[in-house]
Amino acid sequence: MISIVAKQNGIVKAAFFAVFVLACAAIIYGVGAKSASAETMTYETTANVNIRTGPSTAYESLGTVAKGSQLNVTGNAANGWYQVSHNGQRGYVSGTYVQVKGFINTATSDLNVRTGPSTAYSILGTVQKGEELTVTGKANGWFKISYNGRTGYVSGKYVQVTEVMYAATANLNLRSGPSTASGILASIPKGTGLAITADAVNGWYKIYYNGKFGYVSAAYVKKTYILIVMNPESKTVLVNKQNKLPDGYTPQDLVYAPIPFTFSEQSDKRKMRKEAAAAIAQLFNGAKSQGVSLLGVSAYRSYDRQVELFNYYVSRDGYEKASTYSAMPGTSEHQTGLAIDVTGGNGQCAAQDCFANTPEAAWLEDHASEYGFIIRYQKGKESITGYKYEPWHLRYVGQTLAKHITSRGVALEEYIGL
Ligand SMILES: [Zn+2]
Repeated sequence: MISIVAKQNGIVKAAFFAVFVLACAAIIYGVGAKSASAETMTYETTANVNIRTGPSTAYESLGTVAKGSQLNVTGNAANGWYQVSHNGQRGYVSGTYVQVKGFINTATSDLNVRTGPSTAYSILGTVQKGEELTVTGKANGWFKISYNGRTGYVSGKYVQVTEVMYAATANLNLRSGPSTASGILASIPKGTGLAITADAVNGWYKIYYNGKFGYVSAAYVKKTYILIVMNPESKTVLVNKQNKLPDGYTPQDLVYAPIPFTFSEQSDKRKMRKEAAAAIAQLFNGAKSQGVSLLGVSAYRSYDRQVELFNYYVSRDGYEKASTYSAMPGTSEHQTGLAIDVTGGNGQCAAQDCFANTPEAAWLEDHASEYGFIIRYQKGKESITGYKYEPWHLRYVGQTLAKHITSRGVALEEYIGL
């Protein structure tokens, strides 16, 4: 890391984040039984939904809760509805439209805790680097935390958020109560992602599944952790199966890449961030001048599109199989607006293994870095990148870094981990 620090500002930043990410991952993975006390559950609406006076559609609507709102859940009704308090109203929302997620929030440096959400407020005390925070809300980029029994605020810039995901490790029974003596409400296939609505009590989790609340034995539930990237706007951002973009992240400077694609319609798939779009146009021109013709296949992919794709694959092949080949929403590098899949001018072998043996693939191997791109998923690096060799997937990182990475023959993960 020190040798990198000596070189360049942009790279220093990348190195800093990476070192933190790895250190943090080591802490999280190293401690098998993590104390559950600092895990924060959030309940977010996935559509515009009615808030009703009782737990079914037969009850009167009090109004609408907008898609993406955080709900303050005060209880669970037996038939799959959450009791909530929202904007001063008390009512019920159908669990069908509520996504439950668990998060762990860790300070990335020693931090002041303030009485309000800006540096203008007075200091209550400090938290140490690496300390887990009990987050109770967010405001203006600041996290509201519970601090020694009081409410305090810390700047969100210094908080690494880790999402906790739960999955069934076997075919599981959903039961009406927290014991094997309770009736079976449903059977949950092995590998299914679980919406845990409350921490385990006596070895049973309360979960929401297909319109019902019920209980599953914690012995068959595996927790995994994924880091939420803190620098999504950086052109050196690392997005992979362990590092996920913040929910709903959309780059602010997407433009249509001025290159030909394998399809003719206008589509988000043609978009890239401004700097990357200009660079890919230069790369295409450079290739053309050397007699190599290229076409774009797919560039930007939104979070919502990833959700659609993932859900489609789950419905077709089941969760466990789908998660082996389809990226979990938020973990596709295409969401950064810095990645593009390309193919040869004849449009054949688009995003297929046979592209590897084409003259276009050979040209990209030799020249992509001159335009600021790397072949992101290299041969022989599968265990590091988490992806098989994809000679068609280009990732923009800027010329300096691209040349550095390419000449050393390392994956972005290895470069950042140095
Ligand atoms: Zn790709």
